[in-house]
Amino acid sequence: MFELAGRNPEIAKAHAATVMRMETELAKGSLDNVSRRDPEKIYHPMKRADVAALAPAFQWEQYFTGTGAPGFQAIVVSSPEFFKAIDRQLRDTSLEDWKVYLGWHLLHAEAPLLPSAFLKENFEFYGRTLTGATEMRPRWKRCVGLTDNQLGEALGRKYAEKTFGAAGKERTLKMVHALEKALGEDIEKLPWMTAATKKEALVKLRAITNKIGYPDAWRDYSSVEIKRDDAIGNGFRADQFEFQRQLNKIGKPVDRLEWFMTPPTVNAYYDPQLNNINFPAGILQPPFFDNSIDDAVNFGGIGMVIGHELTHGFDDQGRQFDPKGNLQDWWTPADAKEFQQRAACVDDQYASFTVAPGVHINGKLTLGENTADNGGVRVALMALMNTIGNSTKKIDGYTPQQRFFLSLGQVWCSNEREEALRLQVATDPHSPPKFRVNGTVQNMPEFQRAFSCKAGQPMVKANVCRVW
Ligand SMILES: [Zn+2]
Repeated sequence: MFELAGRNPEIAKAHAATVMRMETELAKGSLDNVSRRDPEKIYHPMKRADVAALAPAFQWEQYFTGTGAPGFQAIVVSSPEFFKAIDRQLRDTSLEDWKVYLGWHLLHAEAPLLPSAFLKENFEFYGRTLTGATEMRPRWKRCVGLTDNQLGEALGRKYAEKTFGAAGKERTLKMVHALEKALGEDIEKLPWMTAATKKEALVKLRAITNKIGYPDAWRDYSSVEIKRDDAIGNGFRADQFEFQRQLNKIGKPVDRLEWFMTPPTVNAYYDPQLNNINFPAGILQPPFFDNSIDDAVNFGGIGMVIGHELTHGFDDQGRQFDPKGNLQDWWTPADAKEFQQRAACVDDQYASFTVAPGVHINGKLTLGENTADNGGVRVALMALMNTIGNSTKKIDGYTPQQRFFLSLGQVWCSNEREEALRLQVATDPHSPPKFRVNGTVQNMPEFQRAFSCKAGQPMVKANVCRVW
């Protein structure tokens, strides 16, 4: 990358070593990704002066003034150790090396908008080496991705107009209510939880709010100047807009209606600090959702996703937040212990899965997602049964239960290279899709009944795990 930017090969090589050394030092000061899932470990409210004391080599006051941030006194530092590592680097590293380091980050971040030689070089490592990809995604997909990233609600507004109708929203909401009802019944029937904690859990469940499709109010990008002949300038101005938008939140009430995903996104999320579930229009499409298809298929697809997001409010991480989204314990110690025992079963189960020779899933990193998958599928099936009653009507030769599980398999159907799998298990809190499905149905007697599986077969586990 430095050679492409005009340095001679020797200097470029020395620069690369500098970047690697600094990144490695900063990485050593970072919290590992399992610790970062622990809300207590990333919540350190401080005063402005405390931050200055934590990393005195950094000119905080100049930084805050320079960014144009409104005045404030309190600040949450997610990882104090990381700021100490920055402070050490500021003391130990020359200004010239900092310029090299920041220069590389600029080249890397802007590679998609630089001449194609930069883009290709960036792909060689981040695409080919890290994920095993043999070619870049087509240009139009990269362009749509970039626009979605920088002007997401402008693109999303058009997307929602074209793809998302009132009928889809209505049926999705109906499914959400069916899922909420089923999760409530599931909590009420749990054998391991005391009445006191159940009561609190139901209060939290009822306080969850739903956001479906797209935001009520669209973000106004009219201040972003877009020029036909200035791709990188457009990129900088869009970044600047977003930075300013974030700064403008300081000192204001929390906007509970803000979306953290754009409408075309094929994904969904639960926000523990707002206690809400969010389903962008992008995931309310086949194979997850189809307004013209039977309930069994939709419950096995988007129904499972709805159940998954609801369960996040009650996974190892989400359960630590109260109905308002405050980090506050509402569990009796005995119930918390019962929860942890059951979560440990899920941890052990997924840690036993091998994704590549010698590479296992990290059971602790993926615990929240695996818990949500298991709870989500179970609750979605309960909701389906509540919706269709005892109907055993076959479609295309399959019972409703079979169609439910086939749909579950279809929505997560994927194909990944070994490099991508290795990267995923090291960095992603989700298990690879194959294990999201197999790991879950192995814990479900309902699956074994639906397909007449016998003891000893791969999807039949002797000791099933169950949290929710
Ligand atoms: Zn999730």
